Amino acid sequence: MRIVLLGAPGAGKGTLAKDLMSHFRIPHISTGDMFREAVAAGTELGRKVQGILESGSLVPDEIVNQVVEQRLSKSDCQNGFIFDGYPRTVPQAIALDEILLKMSAKLDAVIYLEISEQTVVKRLTSRRVCPKCGRIYNMISMRPKNDELCDDCGVKLIIRDDDKEEVVRKRYRLYHEMTEPLVSYYQDRNILIRVNSEIDHQDLASQVIKVLEKVIS
Ligand code: AMP
Repeated sequence: MRIVLLGAPGAGKGTLAKDLMSHFRIPHISTGDMFREAVAAGTELGRKVQGILESGSLVPDEIVNQVVEQRLSKSDCQNGFIFDGYPRTVPQAIALDEILLKMSAKLDAVIYLEISEQTVVKRLTSRRVCPKCGRIYNMISMRPKNDELCDDCGVKLIIRDDDKEEVVRKRYRLYHEMTEPLVSYYQDRNILIRVNSEIDHQDLASQVIKVLEKVIS
């Protein structure tokens, strides 16, 4: 099963991807996570993209496509994958089709998580992350047991630079400008599935799993 999750930052792509990963036993590929890991590890790629990530802009298409092509060549992607945060532009979607064609494969479904700017701002500005282990919390829906400390490490939780309100609003608007054309791109190919992402994440996951089971049956 080859799936793309589309949706603004904060629409719940990461959380849904984890549920789909354990249900369908295929890897979750988040280009955002791959870039953050490269920055943390101080690799050449990390040095190239660090400033771009901090400002909330998009990494150039050719860099992203190259990273994705390398990732898809790994053996764990043979039975499928879930993309989260990729593609984000039409040129990236075209590049993905070309990469998949080389592998004699194609996408099965594109899940479009619809959400308002107001909900995204509320969700992301309340997100906290442990700087030590990377565990993610939400001060509204997934609070740590103790104040603002990580349940596992006891370290003070922080707000990711790109979860600050002005950056969140910039990422949301950029998303609509660059990524909305992808909705028509996939709709024209008859693989787009629209889902209301304002609902509880467990309900969202079961709804999406049901729809995807039908796609592969
Ligand atoms: P995310 O965690 O998906 O919101 O990604 C965090 C940041 O990584 C984004 O704000 C971009 O700077 C960069 N990024 C991740 N995926 C892509 C992509 N497909 N195209 C361009 N930039 C990306």
